[in-house]
Amino acid sequence: MANPVFNCPHCGAKAQFSRTVADEYKDSGYHFIYGIFRCAACDCLILKVSNYREGFSSTLRLIGQYPNIYVAEISQFAESVPEEVITDFHEAIKCFEVEAYRACAAMCRRSLQSAVLEHGADAKKDLMDQIDDLSIPKI
Ligand SMILES: [Zn+2]
Repeated sequence: MANPVFNCPHCGAKAQFSRTVADEYKDSGYHFIYGIFRCAACDCLILKVSNYREGFSSTLRLIGQYPNIYVAEISQFAESVPEEVITDFHEAIKCFEVEAYRACAAMCRRSLQSAVLEHGADAKKDLMDQIDDLSIPKI
């Protein structure tokens, strides 16, 4: 099996990864596969967890990765985006990863509201009105 190639959450390079540790187990009709991979570009490690449902599909579905590529990509904006906006968005991603979609939506909303307040929106208004107030005026 060829070494997989994907974007590294540590260095950002599209790099080849070698699997250093792997194990698997079955539970309730699902086959779970855990693997630790090493980036050829920066030598850092990542953990990936995938599964497939026995008897339905042999296609692996990625169900978790640490560190998350999206968190790593967003972190590059840490110097230009307020910390509160970044922190709330990181939490939204974590919620999404564990399929807590309502919590994810709530954290996205909170992150967006922090952003509009940062740009001078009226804190007493609701989010829709805050967004409208910051919109480009219609001619
Ligand atoms: Zn790397």
